[in-house]
Amino acid sequence: MRTLCFLLSLLISAQAFSWSNHTLVSHQLLATLPQVRDSAPVKVESLESFLLANEKALEVFLDQQEQWMQNNLWHYAPRPQDLAFKATGSKDDIRTRFAHAIRVNPNTKWPLYLQLLPGEKRLSPVIKPGSVSTLKNFDHLVSVQLVQLRPGDKASPVDIVTTATDEPDHGLDIGLFTDSNTDYGKVYGFGKQPFGNPNLEYGTQAPFHMGFYHESSILYALGGFLKQTYPEYRIQLFKQLSEFAFTQGHDYWGWRFMGWGLHYLGDFSNPYHVMPVPGNNTMTTLWVGLKNIIGFPEGQNQAIQLASNRHTVLEDFQSLVMSQAYEENNIQHPTIQALTRQKAARVYENGHIVTVISQQAYEKAHDIHEVLEQTMPEQYVDDPVVEYSELSAKSSLQETVLKTSGEDGYNKLINIITDLLGGFSENGASYVEAILSAKTFQNDQAKLD
Ligand SMILES: [Zn+2]
Repeated sequence: MRTLCFLLSLLISAQAFSWSNHTLVSHQLLATLPQVRDSAPVKVESLESFLLANEKALEVFLDQQEQWMQNNLWHYAPRPQDLAFKATGSKDDIRTRFAHAIRVNPNTKWPLYLQLLPGEKRLSPVIKPGSVSTLKNFDHLVSVQLVQLRPGDKASPVDIVTTATDEPDHGLDIGLFTDSNTDYGKVYGFGKQPFGNPNLEYGTQAPFHMGFYHESSILYALGGFLKQTYPEYRIQLFKQLSEFAFTQGHDYWGWRFMGWGLHYLGDFSNPYHVMPVPGNNTMTTLWVGLKNIIGFPEGQNQAIQLASNRHTVLEDFQSLVMSQAYEENNIQHPTIQALTRQKAARVYENGHIVTVISQQAYEKAHDIHEVLEQTMPEQYVDDPVVEYSELSAKSSLQETVLKTSGEDGYNKLINIITDLLGGFSENGASYVEAILSAKTFQNDQAKLD
């Protein structure tokens, strides 16, 4: 049983990034949500200042929150008691105490900055990707402008939240497992990395950005590790922290935590983040795993390679198309229109993360797989000996699609991405409206008092 479990764990294509630049998928949603768009600019505040000003309240809040997580999540690894946040009044280690209590990478830089959209420029001091990310590979950050903020500056909620939606991919969830070779991973209580390659730096964040809630009971029975995923924890953690910050009157951090939570909802709009191997059903997955055990590993290696190639090619196409739309200020582009809010969203309930939000993307996985097969060159999505990322195909991907499957194929891809983004728009708006309804209620109460 152990062996099968281990082998199945290798079956997951643990690519940890979904939409390579989350500001592309969040900006229009936030800019058209009246509650965000019409909120006045707020004063920028450093993390230390926020934490020191609320230290005692935070100690109580984080304790209650831990209880809540233990009682309510689909899967949870309780926080070791030693990591509980204690109000000591010391400024020197307050970031680390906070990072430990919410179990994120304590080397996170928590800078004050804004990440601008492709093509957007502002006359503020520019900072380097290395001041924002702890990763060695900065990926899309090299092609966008990052501008510095200082404590006391004013920033708009749209800008703060948009920027924050990309932050969890800058190192926040790196190295959290006992086999991650970090001192904090050894004490965080998440055990060994359940799937993915612990030797790939960004791969260690995969179990925090992918969640598998809809597999068959036989797959869970054989691969218990499939349950050990934590996006639901992160979505709730940052929703509650956002509400806490607003309640305490520290709106800058209210908006920023909201953006962090939205990141994981964005991941969930990508079917490759809610399913171990999109395109394979349970029986195929099991069969391939079994063949591997009896000495025929080709099927397994092929399944991983194909899922990885398809995931990357989908993301490359989406980021090219949307970056171009933003650069050309083409707000009418279908992908951007899909994010535009016109009415209030579904009323948020805690259970929706598993039952509605991840379910929607799960159901679309098969269609995505088919459309990629129909529209992309076979070499990119159907050839297991190819490592797509080594082909340097991204810069000409749009032309390649046109050559391979014509305007029809190109539009099919746009349509399916538009559909995924429409799901994110509804789910993201539902989340934001839930946080802000608590804020409005509290402001009204304050006025009455
Ligand atoms: Zn992510």
